[in-house]
Amino acid sequence: ANVIEIENLHYTYRDGTKALDGLNLTIEDGARVALLGPNGAGKSTLLLHLNGIYQAQQGKVKVQGQELTSRNQQWVRGVVGLVFQDPDDQVFSATVWEDVAFGPTNLRLSKDEIASRVEGALAAVRMAKYRDKAPYHLSYGQKKRVAIAGVLAMNPRVIILDEPAAYLDPCGKDILMDILSRLNQNGATVVIATHDVDLAAEWAEQVLVIKDGRTLAQGGTSLLADEH
Ligand code: ADP
Ligand code: ADP
Repeated sequence: ANVIEIENLHYTYRDGTKALDGLNLTIEDGARVALLGPNGAGKSTLLLHLNGIYQAQQGKVKVQGQELTSRNQQWVRGVVGLVFQDPDDQVFSATVWEDVAFGPTNLRLSKDEIASRVEGALAAVRMAKYRDKAPYHLSYGQKKRVAIAGVLAMNPRVIILDEPAAYLDPCGKDILMDILSRLNQNGATVVIATHDVDLAAEWAEQVLVIKDGRTLAQGGTSLLADEH
């Protein structure tokens, strides 16, 4: 089944820039997807629609078969977790533990449930031993993993990452992509938006190529053969 379906999505910014221009795509539940496209293609604008931060001006965004509207924003934020490109936009608490606990605490879960989610999320990104550190003192790649843990602690069905490998050294990049593969093996749908064709070819099963606010191609990684 498709966890995400987009039909004829349009989005124009206030200054008149047409960022999405009749975009269609589907993402299967449990897939490992790369959303590829050059800078300015509309990737970030699209991602902001997938968890309800932006609303469709025209067309439809469906998650688990439900069309997103102003009434189910809260719900979709629990289903689709978004990891921004820059962890400094997402990681702000005094300690790693508090940062990852922020979302579950807002859900008013029990103390035990919060603790178990935070521990699980920190283990998944291999940051358990940094739980009492200030995020401020961590490396960029470690902060990125804390941001991911904060999203995981919400138990999302779909995890979307904007340029996950940006500014990481090769080792940090390998660790991160390995973490994402494991999350996918455990059942999550994982979508990475990137302009890195090699990363997409190496890591993804499904590829969506976006350009000028539309889907140019959707299929397996063989789609990328021409670009090498
Ligand atoms: P990508 O993530 O693929 O680089 P974006 O979704 O960021 O693409 O941008 C799509 C288009 O929308 C680009 O032309 C970009 O300049 C424009 N754009 C993005 N954000 C804004 C904004 N806040 N106001 C006006 N134009 C924007
Ligand atoms: P883009 O325009 O492609 O999104 P930017 O150069 O604007 O990229 O950087 C995006 C964010 O990443 C900025 O907030 C910037 O501070 C941060 N950033 C850029 N380079 C580094 C780096 N080497 N280490 C950590 N953060 C960085």
